[in-house]
Amino acid sequence: MPESSTFRLRGLGASAGIAIGEAFVVSARHKRFPRLLLPADRVEGEVERLDGAIVAARAEIAAIRKEAAPRLGEDHLYILDAGLMLLSDEMLIGEARGRIRRSRYNAEWAVMDAAEHFSHVFDGMDDAYFRDRRADVLQAGERILRHLTDSPFDPAKEDFGGPGIIVAYDLTPADTVALARERVLGILTDIGGRTSHTAIMAEALGLPAVLGAGEATRQISSGDRLILDGRAGLVMVNPGEEELAAYESDRQDWIRLRRQARSEAAAPAATEDGVRITISANLEYAEEVESLQDFGVEEVGLYRSEHLYFNRRDLPDEEEHYALYRRLAETPGLRSAIVRTLDLGSDRETPLLGLGGGEEPNPALGLRALRLSLRRRDLFKRQLRAILRASAHGGLHLMFPMVSGVEEAREARALLDECREELRAEGKPFSARLQQGVMIETPAAAICADLLCREADFLGVGSNDLVQYTLAVDRGNEQVAHLYEPLHPAVLRLLHGLARTAGEAGVPIHVCGEMASDPAAALALLGLGFRSLSMTLSKVADVKRAVRGATMENLESLAAALLKCESAESARAVLEEARKGIGEKSLRARPAV
Ligand code: PEP
Ligand code: MG
Repeated sequence: MPESSTFRLRGLGASAGIAIGEAFVVSARHKRFPRLLLPADRVEGEVERLDGAIVAARAEIAAIRKEAAPRLGEDHLYILDAGLMLLSDEMLIGEARGRIRRSRYNAEWAVMDAAEHFSHVFDGMDDAYFRDRRADVLQAGERILRHLTDSPFDPAKEDFGGPGIIVAYDLTPADTVALARERVLGILTDIGGRTSHTAIMAEALGLPAVLGAGEATRQISSGDRLILDGRAGLVMVNPGEEELAAYESDRQDWIRLRRQARSEAAAPAATEDGVRITISANLEYAEEVESLQDFGVEEVGLYRSEHLYFNRRDLPDEEEHYALYRRLAETPGLRSAIVRTLDLGSDRETPLLGLGGGEEPNPALGLRALRLSLRRRDLFKRQLRAILRASAHGGLHLMFPMVSGVEEAREARALLDECREELRAEGKPFSARLQQGVMIETPAAAICADLLCREADFLGVGSNDLVQYTLAVDRGNEQVAHLYEPLHPAVLRLLHGLARTAGEAGVPIHVCGEMASDPAAALALLGLGFRSLSMTLSKVADVKRAVRGATMENLESLAAALLKCESAESARAVLEEARKGIGEKSLRARPAV
């Protein structure tokens, strides 16, 4: 038997965890079809054939959805719904039908061409979210094609042999769910982004995944031995015994730590010496609220409302906003939730508003977030009225993003008061307890926090933007990613000042940027004086664990040491050292090689 070659592949670590096993390369499913010109009298028959395939494709996803529901929980089923939606939406289907009717093309070619057309449209968009939707359209097209050619992909029918790691060109979210039923240890794909639905689904299913690894299907053969490190986005093909043993011990550690962290997650977070820390969640999608209780989280510190504007062609009306926020307010076990008002513009552009993004020379400094809302008062008031009305059903609050001074905060509050007046006059109830907060995301807001404390009921620190604007480093630009340093002395000083200013004014403050999701950075934030952190749900367990291993005394001396650092590099070294002392066992990836 020829000796297998040893090599490594790099991709995106899309779902954490380590899988060790044999590769199973799924046959390439991207066939090309010939373009046929149909006689005029066969055109309507061809449209019917297309419609039949669409119905079958829809039924296939619906069946997978039904089966997956108990395992996956409603909170992640929306990803399968996105596939169903594309199969009902006129965008793709209408284009394919049009190609048959207008040009008399065969259905296979029409579907393939329409899907590729939209994939190019999405690909050309600046917004990473829309770029990732490219895969959804191609996958919906593929599914229809499988039914047109009568060869639905059925992972259950593929002969996987023993437990193994699936290597595929691409996988749909629905395929991923189906594969998780089989004896699949992990997944590796040639294409796919970190925010793709397949990545989200793999994470929800606890399946380690590396996506976008280039030519994995060409370079790997079925039967190759793989180590897949979903944390580092690394795949070792045919590794040596020593490496296997090291990763096997890492894998055991990982499983043990996850289990332990998960079981501890539900308990409240308090330091070893009994100081209670409020841990709340950042939510991106409505469905995520259903997972809150699993993580022992009773508060939402940041509800990003932008998703309501994505993937659609019309603007949401007040009722749609209201239904969404009411659902949030009525979530069982949820004590309070802060809806962040619209933050579109900059990297979150939407063609719906025809503003911001590509049309501006410097969109991050342009018509974004609250600035955009204040320009489009009609749309802003819809959202404010809806949040107010939903507050009658539960503990809802709101906060304004990217405020740069008191005038903006006052203008936003005046509009909120105007909405209150209107609702009173209309006899529509809302809660008098609704609080309004201001996000601290610009250096101007941080420096003038004492003034903003007089305008707001609470402050929410958006550290992602605060770092971006303080250091003048675009948070989405990989060319300057090495300069994006949350531990930069300027950022640490601003944060320290913020915690102190809000404390002196008696105004509650919480941090809801990614810094709060990182266990080490979270410890730094506590040392700097914050007592309330909001983070992505998947990080709650890790951060709570870190909190429980600390005392206020060691957190404060950590902050004092950090504030003395002259650079982010030295601050990182201090943090790393302190973390060992505090006893937080690292959950990070083995350093990438
Ligand atoms: C932030 O900037 O830290 C934040 C929470 O807002 P977003 O990441 O949505 O801009
Ligand atoms: Mg922000």
